[in-house]
Amino acid sequence: MRHSLIILIAAAFFTGCITVKNNQLVTNSANNNTIVGGKLFTAVWQQRAAEYKALCEQAYNIATLRVQQYYNADTSSKAKAIVTDIDETFLNNAPYAVHQALQGKDFSSASWSEWTSRADADTLAGALAFFKFAASKGMTIFYVTNRNEADRQGTLKNLQKFGFPNADNEHLWLMDKTSSKEERRQKIAKDYDIVLLLGDNLGDFSALFDKKSEAERSENVLNNKRRIRAAFHRSSESELRRLGRCDV
Ligand SMILES: [Mg+2]
Repeated sequence: MRHSLIILIAAAFFTGCITVKNNQLVTNSANNNTIVGGKLFTAVWQQRAAEYKALCEQAYNIATLRVQQYYNADTSSKAKAIVTDIDETFLNNAPYAVHQALQGKDFSSASWSEWTSRADADTLAGALAFFKFAASKGMTIFYVTNRNEADRQGTLKNLQKFGFPNADNEHLWLMDKTSSKEERRQKIAKDYDIVLLLGDNLGDFSALFDKKSEAERSENVLNNKRRIRAAFHRSSESELRRLGRCDV
């Protein structure tokens, strides 16, 4: 599978129309739970940090450059695809996270479905322009997500509201039997050259990270530096060496 990958930094929970007024909110007794409070802290940072928005823009700027490089060098007649995750890769679910946290609650399927059915998630900085650019270069967008069938209509409505390319049933690949995305990636690769994988979770890129412990995931990153680097910066390996990075 020929592709690069673009990882959005951080991304458990993001900014949105529900704002947290100040840091005192995270000391509220409802948020003493480590998981819930931790998510709320994350959401506060993502709501407030200009650096976070800049990181999103940077990720999508790199993705745009990669698409242009691929387009310029491509000589294959095979169709081209971008395979992307949805949540926290380009849709921002911070309002849901904050809403749950302020009630002292973690994720639940029922509340999540209620949120997705509203089709109210905003986009992350730089995302929509990138996908429109890729489509303008003849690339087909596949939305490979672990949202489930119950979320289909709300998800399509959310994507269509912003005019995302290929926002239809054919290109929305929801979770079926397994949360692993490997089988879905392989199916797409039969008919398309996958130009980019985009995601906020390493499982969006490789089965190496499916259902692994925190320690195993970190170990897999360290043990596969070459493979990950090759996917991430395929065209820049020689340049990194020239700059003295002997580890590449
Ligand atoms: Mg995600």
